[in-house]
Amino acid sequence: MANNTPQINIKKNIALVAHDNKKKDLLDWARFNRGTLSHHHLFGTGTTGSLLERELDLPITQFKSGPIGGDQQIGAKIAEGEIDFLIFFWDPLEPQPHDPDIKALLRLAVLYNIPTASNRATADFLISSPLMTREYENPRPDLERYKQTHRTF
Ligand code: PGA
Repeated sequence: MANNTPQINIKKNIALVAHDNKKKDLLDWARFNRGTLSHHHLFGTGTTGSLLERELDLPITQFKSGPIGGDQQIGAKIAEGEIDFLIFFWDPLEPQPHDPDIKALLRLAVLYNIPTASNRATADFLISSPLMTREYENPRPDLERYKQTHRTF
């Protein structure tokens, strides 16, 4: 059920986030895929973004660090249609102080039909997809209809 079918452009807006125990994994993955990543707009939470910028020598728009609001900033950008791809290596073995923010970000990624990788294998499959070099009409849910049926005033 698509509404205004927003498009994911050839040059994608990719957000990159990794929890502390997963930062090395993400840096390794990003170094290996630097060539592909260099064709896109890159965004990241504070620490992840600055590490990646140094590692890749590519510009990365940096939000606040995750625990102080960076995950929420990325979620807001997804809701505004400004992020269309998410690589988020979250840590399944360590509790995080900002767990509600993490859940909120992952929820919005699902809601807005954002391609999301939470681990390296998924990130490998996503980045090697032929769709990475094409435009993609993203069939998002019909939120207008949702608003009409849930209006309370
Ligand atoms: P960081 O945030 O990149 O600032 O470490 C990541 C996160 O915990 O969400």
